[in-house]
Amino acid sequence: MKYISTRGGSEELSFLEILLAGLAPDGGLYMPKHYPQISKETLDEWRSLSYADLAFEVLRLFSDDIPLDDLKAITQKTYTAQVYCNGREYDDANHITPIHWLGNESGTEIGLLSLSNGPTLAFKDMAMQLLGNLFEYALAKEHRELNILGATSGDTGSAAEYAMRGKKGIRVFMLSPAGKMSQFQCAQMYSLQDPNIFNIAIEGVFDDAQDMVKAVSNDLAFKSTYKIGTVNSINWARVVAQVVYYFAGYLRATKSSDEKVSFCVPSGNFGNVCAGHIARMMGLPIQKLVVATNENDVLDEFFKTGHYRARKSAETFHTSSPSMDISKASNFERFVFDWLDRDGALVKDLFAQVETQGGFDYSAHPAKKRIEQFGFVSGRSTHANRLHTIQQVARVYSIVIDTHTADGVKVAREYLEPKVKMLVLETALPVKFSETIEEALGYLPERPDAFIGIEKLPQRVFNMKPEVAAIKEFIVGHTS
Ligand SMILES: *Cc1c(COP(=O)(O)O)cnc(C)c1O
Repeated sequence: MKYISTRGGSEELSFLEILLAGLAPDGGLYMPKHYPQISKETLDEWRSLSYADLAFEVLRLFSDDIPLDDLKAITQKTYTAQVYCNGREYDDANHITPIHWLGNESGTEIGLLSLSNGPTLAFKDMAMQLLGNLFEYALAKEHRELNILGATSGDTGSAAEYAMRGKKGIRVFMLSPAGKMSQFQCAQMYSLQDPNIFNIAIEGVFDDAQDMVKAVSNDLAFKSTYKIGTVNSINWARVVAQVVYYFAGYLRATKSSDEKVSFCVPSGNFGNVCAGHIARMMGLPIQKLVVATNENDVLDEFFKTGHYRARKSAETFHTSSPSMDISKASNFERFVFDWLDRDGALVKDLFAQVETQGGFDYSAHPAKKRIEQFGFVSGRSTHANRLHTIQQVARVYSIVIDTHTADGVKVAREYLEPKVKMLVLETALPVKFSETIEEALGYLPERPDAFIGIEKLPQRVFNMKPEVAAIKEFIVGHTS
């Protein structure tokens, strides 16, 4: 399998060649040159596989420069019941991503595809854990080291740290805004004592931390001497790892590969639902891909109107589903590439226009009509909708869902079709957002045993001012 850039200006590269890369040199995102096609017969053969074996079958189609034995070892090591049982005895843990059926609503079975039983209780663990093992493998092969530098406001940073902790050849320098995360989030990250994990609390807000990362990365000499890399959401391996659970969900929800299933995906950077798009392009019988946004509704606006209007940071709302507070969806370009018949020059122009004019308007363009051929529909949810959905699901189905998943359930209900099962992707456990759960229900969500008292554990965190020189000095001092 070869990879090309969405902007048409990159040489063809292999999986391992793009694994540690960010953007393509022309500013585009890497995409597979074609989509492997999965027949109904193959799907049926996959019905009996464990999650780890299914991941192996899907990934081998995209990573043919990793010897099969090595890939098998990596997928077996990654997708274990132990890693994905969030610390409790869990009947279903072997399935890694079990489905909790809610019930039948107007003739449609609606269920939650549980993706949040990994170490940080959010779906990002599904891909990040694999990435940790793939990085370690690729670096060892080339006798290389990598210093991952990132900024986080919560979920991504902790998922990255839990994936990279103890990995040979890898260090993580994670900047977070001091005093701006929940106690639970701080405890999750700062209690890690692994010598290769460095938590740096920056005085200021998330944007200040992000600016520091950009400033350090823009110093190309420093970047290359100190082998600085990232684990951001445009990484192709993260996307392809997520393709696996669309297959797993489909196979668990159906008895025959003639059935169709719809998926509803709480979306921010469009990484999760992009994986659904890829699964559908591979021939997985997906009826609809429902994109659910919160008050930050850039994507909902696009899928409804064909007008893509990225927002400025100042126009981005802080909401109670904060992991979807995104004004510019970084993986969206991957869909646009397929939608516009993989015309790299056109994609390049359109995303240049996003930079200069803030978006592009295809509402009157003939291509607008083709959006629905890709199965995409969308909707948005507000704080009031979120509270109502959390209350209603708790009352009727006795399940407490998190705020992002609630946005998904709310929007999924707008697109139910008789006899087409609807799976809503559960993207986090409610304990991560307990404040809003308490507001909705009047009580705190249940906390998995492994997380009881984590706020009291000793913390390892370095406090710093947002000064580029100081950050660089810290990295220099901790990489020898
Ligand atoms: C990251 C995240 C999302 C958004 O996923 P994208 O891939 O950015 O669209 C939704 N919910 C939760 C809980 C998340 O952590």
